[in-house]
Order: sequence, then C-alpha cells, then structure tokens
Amino acid sequence: MFSKILIANRGEIALRILRACRDLGVKTVAVHSEADRELMHVKLADESICIGPSAPQDSYLNIPAIVAAAEVVDAVAIHPGYGFLSENAEFAEKVLKSGFVFIGPPPEVIKIMGDKLSAIARMRKEGIPCLPSSDKPLGLNHDESRELAKSIGYPIILKAAGGGGGRGMRVVQTEASLKSSVSLTQQEAAGAFNDDRIYMEKFLQNPRHIEFQILTDTHGNGIHLGERDCSLQRRHQKVIEECPASDISSKVREKIGNMCVNAAINMGYIGLGTFEFLYEGGKFFFIEMNTRVQVEHPVTELVTGIDLIKEQLKVAAGEKLTIKQKDVFFKGHAVECRINAEDSKTFRPSPGKITQYHAAAGPGIRVDSHIYNGYNVPPYYDSLIGKLICYAETRSEAIRRTENALAEFVVEGIQTNINMLSDLVGDANFVSGKHDINYLESKIKKIN
Ligand code: ADP
Repeated sequence: MFSKILIANRGEIALRILRACRDLGVKTVAVHSEADRELMHVKLADESICIGPSAPQDSYLNIPAIVAAAEVVDAVAIHPGYGFLSENAEFAEKVLKSGFVFIGPPPEVIKIMGDKLSAIARMRKEGIPCLPSSDKPLGLNHDESRELAKSIGYPIILKAAGGGGGRGMRVVQTEASLKSSVSLTQQEAAGAFNDDRIYMEKFLQNPRHIEFQILTDTHGNGIHLGERDCSLQRRHQKVIEECPASDISSKVREKIGNMCVNAAINMGYIGLGTFEFLYEGGKFFFIEMNTRVQVEHPVTELVTGIDLIKEQLKVAAGEKLTIKQKDVFFKGHAVECRINAEDSKTFRPSPGKITQYHAAAGPGIRVDSHIYNGYNVPPYYDSLIGKLICYAETRSEAIRRTENALAEFVVEGIQTNINMLSDLVGDANFVSGKHDINYLESKIKKIN
C-alpha cells in the first residue's frame, strides 16, 4: 500500500478519501485553495498545502501547483476525486511523468472514454448497445446533418463530444430547427469545453438513467458491483440515486454487468469506473463512461458491503483484486440524497456561514459531509454540501428511513434543498418506482 497520498480535491469527497486512507494506515496530504483553509479534511490531514487562490482554475485545476505540492511533501500517489482534474488525461499523464501514481485508469483510456464520440465508437466495437448516432462530429454540410437526422428519426439530441456536467446538450424535435440548433450547440460547446465538436443521437422520450459500477485491477481481473438508478435529475444533473434499480432482475444485472467488465478489461481499464446507460422499453443504451469514483458510490457500498475507495486504492497500488464476482452480494436497498446549498425555489447557490448543523443519525443512516457548525460555505465551488444515504432491507423501508432522516436534518444560516428532497422522496410516483428522467423537472414546473 502507498505510504502517502495527496488528495487533489475538496469537500465531502476529499474527506471520504482521507477516511479510507486512515483505515488503510496511509498518510494524507490535503491541497486546498485560499478559500478552503477551514475545510474539515484540511484540518484532519497529516499535512496540508495551499495551492492557490479561490478560483478553481488557479487552485484545484492548477496542474503544476498540484504536482509541485506532491513533490514537496514526497507523496507517492495522487487521488483526483471526482470533478476538477479527475477525468483530465493531461493531468494523469503529468502525474505519471513526474513519478507519482495516478489513482485512476491510464491516461490513454481516459482520453478515449472522456470523448463521448470515441467512447461510443469503442463501446460499439465491444458489443455494448448504443443509441443510433452520428459516428463523427457534425460538419458544416447541413444536407449531411439533415439526412443523418432523418435516418435516425426525430427527436434527436445534439451533444458536445467533450461535454459533461449535464451541459452542452440540445434536443431537436423537427427538421425546421435543426440548422440553427447545430450552430448554436457548436458555439456553446466551443465556449464551454474549448472544443466545438458535436454529434447527434436518438433522443429517448421517457428513459430511466441506470448505470453499472465496475472495478478492475492491473492483473486482468474485474468485477461489477451492480447498478444504480439515477433517474431523478434536474437539468441532467442527478439529485437522488438508489441501488439497486427497482425492477432489474439478477439475470439482467449479471448480463449487463459482465458485459461492462469485459469491455473494461479489453480496453486496459484500471480502477473504479461507471458505464452509464439510458433504459427504455426493457433495453439498455450506453451514453457515456465516467472514469473515476462517482458522487453516488455510497449506495453501492451499502448494498454490497464493499468499501469502493479502499478497493480503488488497493488496485491502484498494484494489488490483485481479492473479491471475486461470486463474492459480490446485493442485499437490501440504499437511497442517496444530494444536499445542496441552494435556494429550493430558484436553485440559486446559497453560500454563507452555517449557524446550526445537526446531521441525521441512527440505524442505516450514513452522512458523507464536510460541513460543521460555523463552517462557511464558499461561493466559488459546487453547491453540494453533503450526502444523506439511507439503507434498509427493502426499497420502501429505505425510502421511509430517508424521509425520517431528512426531517431530522438541520442546516441553518444558509438555504438548502432539504425541503425539496423531503417532498421528492415522499412523492407517490417515486415511491412506486414509476419515475423516468423527466419526472423531477415536470414536478418542479407544476410547483412553480
Ligand atoms: P453529461 O456527461 O453531461 O452528464 P450524459 O451523456 O451523461 O451527459 O447525459 C446526462 C443526462 O442527459 C442523462 O442522464 C439523461 O437524463 C439525458 N440524456 C442524455 N442523452 C440522452 C438521450 N439520447 N435521450 C434522452 N435523454 C438523454
């Protein structure tokens, strides 16, 4: 195992990684921006280094500063967490070239899977089902795009090849708006991702978002850890996730899970990864792969009893996977709510000082959060301030437990989405498991 790991992230995930390191007896180094001196994991880490001003591009996205910090403290490996540089192939490459271990897949794999077009092409080669789509970036030739859209069939969705975070997508219902939509999406993609390549794929009207968690080592072994349903989304961003998905049979789980593991092994994937699918009419369609740990990993941990971050650290250190597929059991049900510092009506971020904090607790309750009484939520970063994850024997018990835990949760001084989450987990459509990816947006529209 590594002797010392630098955590190149902030907030709840940095704390989660720190805790896994402590369990394994690994020393930790926190790197942080000027605004983040008071972060919980910065206080708890064995060492901490300020790597720059508040703006993410000057600190958490500052590759030379992070690599230099690793050199100063003599770290052995760098954990990128999620977001920031976690899916940046150039960062992974620099980390490796500087003599550190990058806790994630090889840069070449990040490059292929980080580009949605090349990821889809690769998955097709592996026999993973994908939606009908263009196989190269849309060019300036409108006739070509028009023919392509016609052959796929409207509605279609335009997507930035280098997109992420639910941005860079536009649905096109009819041919009349295709031309203007293509140029608008190209412009937006260039502005947001510094890459104007966009492609089109079939737009599904009422799918669910179901994703498969995999884990592979450097010895050619791999396992899947089942699926998560992340259909409750706002602006293509997940709000509530659960494991398992309510109506996926163990036979289907094995089939799709094994397919993902095989594809990952074939492309030389190492570590934790997630294959994201849309699920409609009993069929799965690959949309993208996340080559890092995900925000929603705890629901899988509670249902499988496997600590994903510890396993991720072990395989990154070159250890052989000791868990075999036959040893992975799915027991019970877990629901995760993302708690955000935001106005629950307007969804505007609500930074500021937390004047009172009381986290829910009790059997089957897990809270992954970096906040504490008196903590000041800075305005510069993502508004996620914590995750409430509730586990029980059955889905309905897990949902009831989540409702009760949300009612116990107190965060004062800032606005949060706790009331909205309460409303959502008590919603009859969610409880019956009939919701699709459009459900939350339509519910919000009705309320407002
Ligand atoms: P990002 O990388 O920005 O997260 P994804 O490709 O993962 O983008 O898609 C995010 C969400 O957008 C999906 O979970 C789904 O809700 C919606 N979406 C993406 N592609 C389609 C599609 N072809 N049809 C319908 N909805 C889609």
